[in-house]
Amino acid sequence: KSKMSSVSNPPQSLLKPMVIPQKLLMGPGPSNSSPRILSASALPMLGHLHPEFTKIMDEVKEGTRYLFQTRNNWTVCVSGTGHAAMEAAVCNLLEPGETTLSCVNGLWGERYADMARRNGAIAETINKPMGQVFNLQEIEEGLQKYRPVLLFLTHGESSGSTVQPLEGVGKLCHRYKCLLLVDSVAAAGGVPLYADDWEIDCIYTGSQKVLSAPPGASPISFSEKGKEKVLKRKTPVRSFYFDMNHLSNYWGCEENPRRYHHTGPIMSVYALREGFSRLVEDGLENSWATHKKCAEMLHEGVERMGLELFVQDKSVRLPCVTGVKVPAGVNWKEVADYAMNQYKVEISGGLGAQAGKIWRIGIMGYNATPDNVNRVLRALSEALKHVGFKSR
Ligand code: PMP
Repeated sequence: KSKMSSVSNPPQSLLKPMVIPQKLLMGPGPSNSSPRILSASALPMLGHLHPEFTKIMDEVKEGTRYLFQTRNNWTVCVSGTGHAAMEAAVCNLLEPGETTLSCVNGLWGERYADMARRNGAIAETINKPMGQVFNLQEIEEGLQKYRPVLLFLTHGESSGSTVQPLEGVGKLCHRYKCLLLVDSVAAAGGVPLYADDWEIDCIYTGSQKVLSAPPGASPISFSEKGKEKVLKRKTPVRSFYFDMNHLSNYWGCEENPRRYHHTGPIMSVYALREGFSRLVEDGLENSWATHKKCAEMLHEGVERMGLELFVQDKSVRLPCVTGVKVPAGVNWKEVADYAMNQYKVEISGGLGAQAGKIWRIGIMGYNATPDNVNRVLRALSEALKHVGFKSR
């Protein structure tokens, strides 16, 4: 006797209205989107190969070139968040059996090495404690020792709140016939960056940090050397979705007409376009200066409360994400929860070795204003009072 199929009960939760609170997102991302960026994602849908949409894609490419300060032909967006761009870099630039060197000073170098190994590459590492960066000599020793085809550096280490100096690294890598890959998810737009002048072969970022767009489309750009490495592969790129041979066509980097590869995240691209528009109106140098100024305000405010900054060397503090040491006897989460519950202000905790030991406070894009810095400082100071911490 055949069993009759019956429809399951409709989920009652979906009959209730969706309620989203207003929060000030001062963690390491996402940052708040401006009303203009948010309304861009509610504009009418277009087909992903319609001329009006491919024009928007072209504008996003121009924005990306401006953000990275590059003229790279292979400049596109990957559909997905920062991790997707990271996967794209790895699966295009590495072939099984090749050696890559990851500079690890926090979570992101570890993650890169993991991804490289999943793609069949040999991932070596050089290591620094969180809160410190690599100098040229340390990088050169790594290049000499491991002779990698690709070196990975995190520009803005959001877990250790450092900014990695990049000048000279590309030239050095090229002397060792190695390409340079840079993760600028938590830095691009917030600190000086000159991808062409610094000879970076592949660089990517995310949309939800300094660009203040929703997560979902991630800019990535390959130098001529980077492009050549992908074109000369002996094995196919393991991911169809992230294969630059396809994506470069879909993003109009070549003469051939665009072909269907996958459906682009239309609304995320609209929003990203408006994020770039904001950056262009503001100007890169102003954006860098604003992030610096707001970060300094935050640093002074935090120190005035009697707290200590995590990164000792002032010159390598990442303005986009600030690490603050949790004082002895204070529970970081109680403080963060109080700031959220009473002030709707997000302050994040540490990751990895610094979990429970630091707070991380983000200042990115649309959120980088003195008013917001004052709001997060007030929330933090009230929360500290609440948990009984006696500030100086
Ligand atoms: N790299 C860095 C430096 C990041 O800060 C992040 C996001 N925290 C990522 C990569 C990954 O981006 P996503 O969370 O958008 O996938």
